[in-house]
Amino acid sequence: MIRTTALALLALAGLFCAPATAGEPLAACWRAEDLAARPGEARAVKGAPGSTVAMPDTAADTAARAPILGTVRRVELPAGEKLVALTFDLCETAGEIAGYDGGVVEALRAADARATFFAGGHWMATHPERFAQLVADPRFEIGTHSWSHRNLRKLAADRLAGEIRAPLATYAAAREALAARQCAAGLDLGHAPQRPRLFRFPFGVCNPAALEAVAEAGLVAVQWDVVSGDPAPGQSADAIVRGVLAAVQPGSIVVAHANGRGVHTAEALPRLIEGLRKKGYRLVTVGELLAAGTPVVADTCYELKPGDNARYDKPATADGRPLAGDARPGAASEPTGARKP
Ligand SMILES: [Zn+2]
Repeated sequence: MIRTTALALLALAGLFCAPATAGEPLAACWRAEDLAARPGEARAVKGAPGSTVAMPDTAADTAARAPILGTVRRVELPAGEKLVALTFDLCETAGEIAGYDGGVVEALRAADARATFFAGGHWMATHPERFAQLVADPRFEIGTHSWSHRNLRKLAADRLAGEIRAPLATYAAAREALAARQCAAGLDLGHAPQRPRLFRFPFGVCNPAALEAVAEAGLVAVQWDVVSGDPAPGQSADAIVRGVLAAVQPGSIVVAHANGRGVHTAEALPRLIEGLRKKGYRLVTVGELLAAGTPVVADTCYELKPGDNARYDKPATADGRPLAGDARPGAASEPTGARKP
């Protein structure tokens, strides 16, 4: 069931702050060559040294309950407002080091396009410098994507809470370390809140207990209404551009990947961004989108129609791991199926 949540509007408008100016912390702390994409970096490596990171303790984490119970699909905007949020998941399971798709980030920076990254805690821990660069970039907003990309429908309550809360500790440590760098002294990190406010479910799957745990952790669960289909190798850059431009509407949230699982995403982005702007869209973060309108909230999780993600609950995922047939390095991603509503 879908509802628009007017009561959440005021609370959200207060939570999400205005955009900052792009540039300064990045330029102060990294040279252009340090920010540039590197060959091979988008490739995931299974079982590499350091590819299993212990989950940080979350006992000290406290936050007010989030104003929304359910998942945000898109945002209803005032008439004439044409905003769209591009989102990129940084999924990583324990036992692998997923990729960093520098081509995606470079395409966004080159177009001065705002975007939201949903970063897994394990990914943050294995990519400290790249994660610091994303946090430092005022174009970008960071949400979280669980600790190690388990199917949260399959986890007991204690493990569920850990998966949801652990990335908050890793984010906080990374932000603190960034602020403490000499290069960042006196620079404004105000675009990056002390604690992320947005969460995306691994595989886009949830149940009532998982929804409750996310809200209890002070996080707003964000899904999408437009899928890029980018984990599918056959989904060409042309198909991504055409599919997203055909499906997008004011207030849309588009899901894609920046962990190397978006096969043609970097190639598609320049044309996609240009196409969206030609249609009159302004690219914003999810937080800015939420602050501009009324969220359309579903009380279940799905890709494009209720029930369409049941495949993630097959016995092979009984312990919450990815499907056995999808267990190759970097397989943690979603959604791969339908590309249009
Ligand atoms: Zn994911």
